[in-house]
Amino acid sequence: MPVPKRKRSRARRDKRFANKALSVYSVGACGHCSAPIRSHQLCSLCGYYKGVKVVQDKVERTEKRLKNNRSADKPGRA
Ligand SMILES: [Zn+2]
Repeated sequence: MPVPKRKRSRARRDKRFANKALSVYSVGACGHCSAPIRSHQLCSLCGYYKGVKVVQDKVERTEKRLKNNRSADKPGRA
């Protein structure tokens, strides 16, 4: 297996990361709740993307679960 002949100095190694600074990303506003969001990403607050509900939030999941549990508890079952 080939092995590098010499150790690469810290200066040469660190030059590789010199151009890897964080870039500034563009921030837009959510079309539904107008919270600041990154472009091309869904809103983490309301779960909307391009005006369409994509993700359920915690309240909706809880309500759905409670509704299903209530329908399972029909009278006459023991
Ligand atoms: Zn939103």
